[in-house]
Amino acid sequence: MSSSWVLITGGNRGIGHALVTEMLSCAPVIATSRRGNPPGNPPTGKHWVKYVACDGSHQPAVDALAPELLAKYGAPAAIIHNAGITMDNLHIRQSGEQWRQVMETNLNAIFYWNRHLIPAMMAERQGAILLMSSVSGLKGNIGQSAYGASKAALVGLAKSLALEVARFGIRVNCLAPGVIDSEMTRALPPQAMKQLLAGIPLRRAGSAEEVARVARFMISDDSQYMTGQTLVLDGGMSA
Ligand code: NDP
Repeated sequence: MSSSWVLITGGNRGIGHALVTEMLSCAPVIATSRRGNPPGNPPTGKHWVKYVACDGSHQPAVDALAPELLAKYGAPAAIIHNAGITMDNLHIRQSGEQWRQVMETNLNAIFYWNRHLIPAMMAERQGAILLMSSVSGLKGNIGQSAYGASKAALVGLAKSLALEVARFGIRVNCLAPGVIDSEMTRALPPQAMKQLLAGIPLRRAGSAEEVARVARFMISDDSQYMTGQTLVLDGGMSA
């Protein structure tokens, strides 16, 4: 990875916070989220981090911020599309608004960012893009038709986009974590969590730091020959 900056969406808390902390040893980081600043102290590292409030599901917000970032910092070395939400409900009970919000945040926002940033990366003839998918995009989960569909879409997106940009030296991969300890999973009812853990051969949830270490590998030169792939990180849940 070149020493240029890394964009991490959804970087103010949860897995995003661990991603920012991990990446700060390699490059400066711009971390976006709706609220902007992290709830606690920002992490410190070898490089700087800037938190910016930007709702990725709102295309005009991305259209305003992305050119500003490019003008100020140049092309990013890497993008980690990590922002994501769940709005779980049985498919037939899901409101149109919930469905659209999940798709806007988990899928469309990636398109909004990419159409600004990828041309700049192409000009540099290098870069890595990581899409945060989920095991829920690879196997079914009752109540997660919207979330699962949005995360499965990332697997397909990574494959086609990887083919399109490979000749510009840009790699695109997906990471599919299983159950990771974060606000998102802490919001689950205890009984649901107990059931989930019982289905994990390693018998525990993963940590955000474990996700961040694999993400770092996937955008670093250590994975230079890997593109268009989805790597599953789930304690054996889908084995
Ligand atoms: P959290 O709910 O803890 O964090 C979500 C992050 O996304 C926050 O930083 C949030 O900040 C940001 N975010 C949400 N909506 C938007 C938006 N419209 N624009 C910009 N930022 C937004 O989730 P996790 O850390 O657990 O999850 C991170 C990613 O990992 C998600 O994509 C999730 O689907 C995926 N994942 C998580 C798993 C888990 O078990 N936790 C398992 C598999 C995948 P703010 O609210 O300020 O906008």
